Amino acid sequence: MAIDSRATKSADNTFAMAQYQFDQAADRLQLDTNLREILRTCERELTVHFPVKMSDGSIRVFEGYRVQHNIARGPAKGGIRYHPAVTLDEVRALAMWMTWKCAVVGIPFGGAKGGVVCEPKKLSTAELENLTRRYATEISVLIGPDRDIPAPDVNTNAQVMAWIMDTYSMAAGHSVPAVVTGKPLSIGGSEGRAEATSRGCLTVIRETAKRQGTALPGQTAVVQGFGNVGAPLATFLHELGVKVIAVSDSSGAIFNPRGIDIPRLSRYKSETGSVARFMGTDPLGQAELLELPCDWLIPAALENQITRANAPRVRARVVVEGANGPTTPEADAILTERGILVIPDILANAGGVTVSYFEWVQDLQSFFWDEDEINAKLDKLMTRAFSAVSAIADRHDIDLRTAAHMLAIDRVAEATRTRGIYP
Ligand code: NAD
Repeated sequence: MAIDSRATKSADNTFAMAQYQFDQAADRLQLDTNLREILRTCERELTVHFPVKMSDGSIRVFEGYRVQHNIARGPAKGGIRYHPAVTLDEVRALAMWMTWKCAVVGIPFGGAKGGVVCEPKKLSTAELENLTRRYATEISVLIGPDRDIPAPDVNTNAQVMAWIMDTYSMAAGHSVPAVVTGKPLSIGGSEGRAEATSRGCLTVIRETAKRQGTALPGQTAVVQGFGNVGAPLATFLHELGVKVIAVSDSSGAIFNPRGIDIPRLSRYKSETGSVARFMGTDPLGQAELLELPCDWLIPAALENQITRANAPRVRARVVVEGANGPTTPEADAILTERGILVIPDILANAGGVTVSYFEWVQDLQSFFWDEDEINAKLDKLMTRAFSAVSAIADRHDIDLRTAAHMLAIDRVAEATRTRGIYP
């Protein structure tokens, strides 16, 4: 089987970027041509167009997607994103990264992702619920507790997961909590899930500091995005004595070289809906934020933030990818060349899916663990994954992204080889 086209490094297509990263690792692994063809393609792609009753009595048709990249190692797993810029290619890339992420931390899932093209902030709660319930119904041909388990992503949260769980359960005629993760605790959610991605990021930051022989208190961090991932991570860093000197969200960026009072900022954000104009900080350009000198730069918003254009001006010691795909391949090469360490998304933000796995297991067995147990198990898996990836990087003298992909692709390839090609 021949590979028809090699992905380019281009940043304008997120899926091409994911395939480029795959190719780099597949080359190093000298992966068999047939396996390469299978693994660089998404297995199932569903596009749906569905009507939603709006509050003014009108009906609007929305476009949504659910993509399963690979299910060789277990049911598909991946979040659902509500955003005006969602595209099928973006969802494909995110689904592929989910496959690698689950394999890096060694949890028995394949990769999926979903998205709806919409502006959630312009929808009323009732419209959001209608949209969610109809989208869940449209993708119910794919999702299920043994088949494909959604979770929150950009602009979706525990409430959205509750609506999906309820919609799916209504059709089934009984409650099916394990169909989604990231649910509220009252309906089978897990302790620790809301902060799990950030806690996992913190583990890799701690392990990196250990390897570098540096102490975290007094170091500086810059966090782009103050949502599910960025806000709890900023809080954890602040609690550890790291000075979080700049933070941004979609409405603006703020800066204080002495460190921002993160607990107060969190309260301010929940009252005002944004971080902009927070007391004791100066406004900052969104682009400027990424170029501040700091120890830890944590992009935790969207993809394609560190590109060929701004990578030469990044002055962080380490970039920790809280978001998926924030660094383009050209930028990766520039950062590596400049001696800036990048901890890749498929390792750095794998804490969320890890606790989603714990939630799913708890739902299936109807037996729940306490938060200390969850956090300890998460820390163990993240530390183990960090060591495994670092060992590959050291052995081959390569960057952590290629090393993490090599670990993941090798595991998925092994599962595929073992199962064989049907029929
Ligand atoms: P979210 O919607 O909760 O938060 C995103 C934040 O980014 C918001 O504060 C938003 O205002 C901000 N933002 C958007 N555009 C911005 C811009 N141009 N500049 C600065 N800030 C901007 O989303 P989230 O769940 O925290 O996801 C963030 C990233 O982390 C995504 O890439 C997502 O795929 C990834 N991720 C999320 C999880 C999870 O558990 N939620 C797990 C793994 C990875």
